[in-house]
Amino acid sequence: MPRPIVATIDIFALQHNLSVARKHAPHAKTWAVVKAHAYGHGLERAVRGFAAADGLALIEVDNAVRLRELGWTKPILLLEGFFDASDIPVLVTHQLQFAIHCNAQIALLEAAALPDARFHVHLKMNSGMNRLGFTPDQYRAAYERLRAIPAVSSITMMTHFANADDAANPDLPLAEQVRRFRQATAGLEGEHSVANSATDLMHGDLAYEWVRAGVMLYGATPGGGTAQDFGLQPAMQLDSEVIGVQHIVAGDAVGYGSRFVADKPMTIGVVACGYADGYPRHAPNGTPVIVDGVRTCTVGRVSMDMLTVDLTAIPGAGVGSRVTLWGKELSIDEVAFAAGTIGYELMCALAPRVPVQEKK
Ligand SMILES: *Cc1c(COP(=O)(O)O)cnc(C)c1O
Repeated sequence: MPRPIVATIDIFALQHNLSVARKHAPHAKTWAVVKAHAYGHGLERAVRGFAAADGLALIEVDNAVRLRELGWTKPILLLEGFFDASDIPVLVTHQLQFAIHCNAQIALLEAAALPDARFHVHLKMNSGMNRLGFTPDQYRAAYERLRAIPAVSSITMMTHFANADDAANPDLPLAEQVRRFRQATAGLEGEHSVANSATDLMHGDLAYEWVRAGVMLYGATPGGGTAQDFGLQPAMQLDSEVIGVQHIVAGDAVGYGSRFVADKPMTIGVVACGYADGYPRHAPNGTPVIVDGVRTCTVGRVSMDMLTVDLTAIPGAGVGSRVTLWGKELSIDEVAFAAGTIGYELMCALAPRVPVQEKK
């Protein structure tokens, strides 16, 4: 028998969440963001779940090619553009759209002799986040330089917001990034692409022509409310089973480092799921889990292949009891917050050794 851990992906939830993204920005086209193997859900499932999207956007050039091999014929966008000159012929062959965020990329495009290429370029502005992109005062020059390249047939103006889930953030209010973007792009011809999930859900007025929806499509929140508040459905469920039980008394410790010490008699369940499956090792005592439909919590440190849970108040539970680490009955966000991270990280960290099935 295989180890009793399995992730279940719900294709219907992917479809539903895409429709939620569209509802919030009814006049915009939607890129479904599928980087990091569709946030851990698998590219092939994403192609089916997001068949209704206007395009798929990701980071990895090899996975963009894979999307074409899987039969995706609509647009594909590389959100960080290409990484080196050897990527450029791949862009042509597979008709990949791409971001341009620095002069080194423009220089590579200028140097590539590509008489037949028709590139749709997304020119990235650093409007305050200080990761990728041209600053507002460099932006027009970069735009003109791209326009002078014959192979460039359109330029979409793109930026990314640091605080769309917290618009009043005092260090960089959303409105300030919007102001810089609007000012620096005024009068330039082309479409606009600024909205991530948080922008789509909470600032639909900023959708422009294109939204770039990521985490919301997988049924987790980008912040600013719970996924449920936004009507999103979890697309990933992680289940395992209890494979061992220990009965301990006050003073007994559990797991590495003896981080948990019982103050009363307890029943401890050992679950076949550890950090090598993608469960966060830094989850503290008290991180929620569901056993046989009953909510309980972790006790002791998460180890590589196992974690330990409190079964004291679930008398019927024992070896073979079903354990849900996250999914429909327990949101991935809640587990993530308990562990000091975000749902994004847990989804992306689902380990290759975990078998994946599709929800029937
Ligand atoms: C990942 C990414 C997104 C999607 O962000 P979410 O918060 O997951 O919606 C949008 N735009 C860019 C440039 C990205 O890299």
